[in-house]
Amino acid sequence: MPVEKTPASRSRRSFLQLSAAAAAATTVGFRIVTEPMLAHAASAPYPYPKDAVLINANENPLGPCGVACDAVNGVASQGGRYSDWMTGDLIKVFASAEGIKPEYVRAFAGSSGPLHYSVLAFTSPAKSYVTAEPGYEAGAHAAKISGARVVKVPLTSTYAHDVKAMLAAAPDAGVFYICTPNNPTGTLTSHSDIEFLLANKPKDSILLVDEAYIHFADATSALDLVKADKDLIVLRTFSKIYGMAGLRCGFAIGRPDLLEKMGAFSGWSAMPITAVAAAAASLKDPRLVPDRKHINTTVREATFEWLAKNNYSFVPSQSNCFMLDAKRPAKEVIAAMAAQNVFIGRQWPVWPTHVRITVGTQPEMERFQEAFQRVMTRTAVSPLRPLRPRSESATIHLDGLVIPATRA
Ligand code: PLP
Repeated sequence: MPVEKTPASRSRRSFLQLSAAAAAATTVGFRIVTEPMLAHAASAPYPYPKDAVLINANENPLGPCGVACDAVNGVASQGGRYSDWMTGDLIKVFASAEGIKPEYVRAFAGSSGPLHYSVLAFTSPAKSYVTAEPGYEAGAHAAKISGARVVKVPLTSTYAHDVKAMLAAAPDAGVFYICTPNNPTGTLTSHSDIEFLLANKPKDSILLVDEAYIHFADATSALDLVKADKDLIVLRTFSKIYGMAGLRCGFAIGRPDLLEKMGAFSGWSAMPITAVAAAAASLKDPRLVPDRKHINTTVREATFEWLAKNNYSFVPSQSNCFMLDAKRPAKEVIAAMAAQNVFIGRQWPVWPTHVRITVGTQPEMERFQEAFQRVMTRTAVSPLRPLRPRSESATIHLDGLVIPATRA
């Protein structure tokens, strides 16, 4: 069974073992790794050139919906107050819509924070972090801070998380991270597989189910398992279908004792009221999710049709991103696309010829198609110099976060 582990030198490991608690207690000193940090590392110059097509960070080109923008404008003048009751009201709106108790929900400025804190709280040098390959990398960066072994398990042939292999690979697991739909593949892991993992996991471990992209897919949420008091935390964000990546709002949903354990690492901080107001308004808009899901599906499927017609291989996705096999070194393709002002997503080392593409608007995807065709038919020339000045490449960008390269 092909299972990859993050290499760690013995001396570094023992240092981490000694300092894990101290490191966890001072996490303010470590940056949380997010998607934009990874995304921009691959290609992006700052600032982006005019008219650039940005399909590199799994953002939503539609941005916040109209009522969310009105809510931001309406609340901005109250920004001098902490306004905690607004966060309480937002939680009540979400909890009531999902049929869950409000004490099972905590709001954060995005879901990157609770992802990071959950890994710190439930992994350690003795409790490993188990994730998919290729998968969203942020949790593995947090695991380095807790000193946990990182166990990467390849996806199945249908690109689901291989829950049996994950169990077999880590009898010492502290956290099983399941991202469904998965970033970067946009593929699903079934509810029954999540139930199987819950039923068979080591006693003190938890599942961290990341549903950042769930609204784009025909998928069953794991929230019913939270309601059933199982050992899992579900993450939701307003950064994707709700188009609020820059406004910052997300939830961790789990049994209060699990949230409390995680909360020991996050501390308590006020939410930005602009984000809270926009999120509450978005949740009350009954057309937002179905309409945006329809738009995304339509554009994605049209893109797939074009790719198939032109004999390009891709992983069929249910999300707002997909993996495209260029059958050439991904870095070369990313650079050649950027030279045409089309910024596509990064590569995962385990799939060195695949690039991740975010689904943009239809006009953006048409520009992507033209540029990609030119690159693949070698009528576009790759740049001779690096896209990013050397000093800036000391950082790694996930989609949304910048971390020092030394933490990669
Ligand atoms: N989880 C996944 C799978 C993501 O792709 C991202 C961002 O792209 C996040 C979590 C974090 O998003 P945010 O902090 O914007 O909520």
